[in-house]
Amino acid sequence: MKCRICQENITPFMTYGRMPIANGFLLPDQFENEYFFNLTPAFCDKCLTFQIEEQPDPKLMFHDQYAFFSRTSVHMQRHFKAYADWVYDNHLKGDSPFVVELGSNDGIMLENFAKRGIRHLGVEPSANVAEEARRHGVNTIVRFFGPETASEIVEEYGQADALLAANVMCHIPDLNGIAKGASALLKQDGVLIFEDPYLGSMIEKTSYDQIYDEHVFIFSALSVANIFGPHGFELIDLLKQETHGGSMRYVLARKGARSVSAAVTKILADEKAQGLHLSETYDSFRERCEASKARLVRLLQDEKAAGRRVVGYGATSKSTTILNYCGIGPELVEFISDTTPIKQGKFTPGMHIPVKPYSAFAENYPDTALLFAWNHKAEIMEKEKAFTEGGGKWLTHIGED
Ligand SMILES: [Zn+2]
Repeated sequence: MKCRICQENITPFMTYGRMPIANGFLLPDQFENEYFFNLTPAFCDKCLTFQIEEQPDPKLMFHDQYAFFSRTSVHMQRHFKAYADWVYDNHLKGDSPFVVELGSNDGIMLENFAKRGIRHLGVEPSANVAEEARRHGVNTIVRFFGPETASEIVEEYGQADALLAANVMCHIPDLNGIAKGASALLKQDGVLIFEDPYLGSMIEKTSYDQIYDEHVFIFSALSVANIFGPHGFELIDLLKQETHGGSMRYVLARKGARSVSAAVTKILADEKAQGLHLSETYDSFRERCEASKARLVRLLQDEKAAGRRVVGYGATSKSTTILNYCGIGPELVEFISDTTPIKQGKFTPGMHIPVKPYSAFAENYPDTALLFAWNHKAEIMEKEKAFTEGGGKWLTHIGED
């Protein structure tokens, strides 16, 4: 395959096998026509970008039935308010600033600007979540972002002070198009700020469930510098985040337009110390994924052999990679409980485990809960004290428990 960024020939370092659409929760009459692709990650040793080889058509992943509404998590609402406040305090200095967000979802971040009366625009490809954003007073257009959308925005609103994104940039195969769009959209001293799951955290934790259809890239600071550098941007700041099991906030500006923080030098050095620029690092990551799979399957089989009930907690998109890679179906996990109404009554992609409302877990505790939403562990442990104190056991695909 060719690297999506620099066109170098690259080879996947492993395969997670045949995968369905991660968020493609479905009904039994849809099982027969379910879509599958091969999930194979690769590392480009020229531009240092971690990417997946094959990505399904975006229309299969981000459409009107798209089930993910950011607003459903109080924790995420708090996070986005803090993100918006930080942008406001640090990067919106001029008069009547204008902020644009890519993949603005249900307006969870932009509403914080809307409330301050700041000019803003959300660019969101899914019509149903865009509609939800508008209901919250967030000005939103239904589009994919690129150079054309950028010129359209500039024509109507003028250039932007900040272009923001959260958990979106890693979804977009054509990042060169995004960089061109950002260059057209932003003022001379404008900033491009985005955060996404962080490669350094994924490698450290072996949290391979970050790898699924929507995440065409998992970024490091080294790769982000190489992706946006050819388009005239440089990293000016980096901020580690706790969200999604370890994320990074990248701040870029046109070369020389802003001063570069000490965090940039430090984190780039840390990444080299961790070996994120070396292909050997990904070979040993593959070995740890294989060990994690063997361990999880063994633990679940032991539970079954002991006659214990195992239920999944949180039907996340990420769980699709774990379930399909490890071959875990309803014979090992009775059902998965989830608070998102649109998923309830459906079945998980590929392995077809039933998804039930949270009450199915809370009203009849299993012996063991398999925690898929492990990145919200602290929040969940607090909420589920009664289960844990009553002898309930937790499992995840990560760690030694
Ligand atoms: Zn490359």
